[in-house]
Amino acid sequence: MIKLYHVLVQLFVREKKDIRIEFIYAYFSDLSLDIDVKYIEKDIENLEGDTRLSVIKARVHQSDFRKILLCKYGKCCICGIDEEELLTASHIKPWVKSDNKEKVNGYNGLLLCPNHDKLFDSGFISFDNKGKILISKSLSVENQQFMNISGDIQINLSYEMKPFMTYHRKHIYKDKESL
Ligand SMILES: [Zn+2]
Repeated sequence: MIKLYHVLVQLFVREKKDIRIEFIYAYFSDLSLDIDVKYIEKDIENLEGDTRLSVIKARVHQSDFRKILLCKYGKCCICGIDEEELLTASHIKPWVKSDNKEKVNGYNGLLLCPNHDKLFDSGFISFDNKGKILISKSLSVENQQFMNISGDIQINLSYEMKPFMTYHRKHIYKDKESL
């Protein structure tokens, strides 16, 4: 928590922005993971006031969410690729549709490689309540093979993840009409 305080001092007080440090500190007080300050600073260098604050909030949350998923899974949930630079912390219920708590909830995420992130994010695949893969009819058998996807893929879907996956099946999965 001391480290977090220093991050906030760096970002706000040092640059004499008129956002009260007590407010910022209270907002982030439930987060204890390290934050990549340089990554955030680069994003906010030309921003001020409320815009600056909301970008910082979003970046802190994204960084936090990725760390939770890297720690939880360590590899692509579908194929096992474990090169950290290639892995995406993918929201099950999309980030834009999630509330502030859902955005950082580790149960609302899968760690995926670029191909499988794209398939999941675009709704070509989803998962049933037992974690078995669902493959949209719109993805040809040839493309399933090229993308290393088959009907026997199974992920661990915990109780807490199910509401998010239900949302994905209903709103993101391309074959949602047939559910
Ligand atoms: Zn993968």
